[in-house]
Amino acid sequence: MATLFTGIGELWTFDPAHDGPLRDAALVVDDGVVAWTGPASGAPDADERVDVGGRAVLPGWVDSHTHLVFDGDRSSEFEARMAGEGYAAGGIAVTTGATRAASDERLRSLLEARLAEAYRGGTTTVETKTGYGLTVDDEVRSARIAAELADEVTFLGAHLVPEGWDADEYVDLVIGDMLEAVRPHVGWMDVFCEEGAFTVEQSRRVLDAGRRAGLGLRVHGNQLGHSGGVALAVEMGAASVDHVNFLSADDVEALAASDTVSTILPACDLSTRVQFAPARQLLDAGATVAIASNCNPGTSYTSSMNFCVGTAVLQQYLTLEEALRAATVGGARALRRGDVGSLTVGSRADLHVLDAPAAIHLAYRPGMPLTHAVFRGGRSLDTPRESAG
Ligand SMILES: [Zn+2]
Repeated sequence: MATLFTGIGELWTFDPAHDGPLRDAALVVDDGVVAWTGPASGAPDADERVDVGGRAVLPGWVDSHTHLVFDGDRSSEFEARMAGEGYAAGGIAVTTGATRAASDERLRSLLEARLAEAYRGGTTTVETKTGYGLTVDDEVRSARIAAELADEVTFLGAHLVPEGWDADEYVDLVIGDMLEAVRPHVGWMDVFCEEGAFTVEQSRRVLDAGRRAGLGLRVHGNQLGHSGGVALAVEMGAASVDHVNFLSADDVEALAASDTVSTILPACDLSTRVQFAPARQLLDAGATVAIASNCNPGTSYTSSMNFCVGTAVLQQYLTLEEALRAATVGGARALRRGDVGSLTVGSRADLHVLDAPAAIHLAYRPGMPLTHAVFRGGRSLDTPRESAG
């Protein structure tokens, strides 16, 4: 069945054939994919017609970096940090304890609730990671539950060296028994390459093992300092290196010359009060930039991509178009996905209808409830996920 979406005030397709948004546009969805886009006056007939009343329509957000499988509350740690205490990578241990203690059912329902929140905010593709188990059994459990519900699942056994472990021996476990057990549930391997987590050499071992197991590679790098994570990600051909707050001129040049996406995490930068990632500099150099939420309980407890996009415009000097592109096409590139992130003909019909005539409202009216409706594969996400399919 074909559905015509018409009355679109501003349509952002990110079709390379169009420059910028189409005004007074229409879009046809057939069998869950985009079948036609163009001026409303030239729209073809369809079985069903949805008039969006002059609102702006974007591709659904592609959130390529989240940590949603966890239990436990860290609001008091956050409150203390806001009052002046420093952030250290060790706070992850608090979440690890609570996650290990949670039942499967509880972890699943927490993940479902967090995904539902993300979808309500216009996100239609979500990557999420393990990394709060850090034992073979707990990492497998997180991966299995994530794989039931999320689009893309990443193995982040190398999130932190658990208490009582020697770092090199823990890396042996991650790339040995843990990787073998988790492998059936995941598509990606990730490592936190940072002082207080894993060195460049340890991170290289992790990524190399992931590559040999057939996984795509991602890196948490250069968040807290010049960790060497960016250079390593480029060297290893990672799909994305995320955080990228501290970059040398060589790092920027290497990213621009590579296929490795630079993923910025504006909400995390705000929540940790680090210097914002130099996204403007990356774009000017020709790098591909993605925006993701990094939703996690320690450093960025929000999955609001509307907020991240607004922040990237307001604080990181991206143009509206650059920010929208980074949070859609950029996220898809960071996940090496060609089927989502744009509304070109043949793409999955993931539509984000804003309660605004133009997408600049995301930065112009920050914090306002601007998501009017969300469609994934042409289907409205107003209905609960389990009855949608
Ligand atoms: Zn992260």
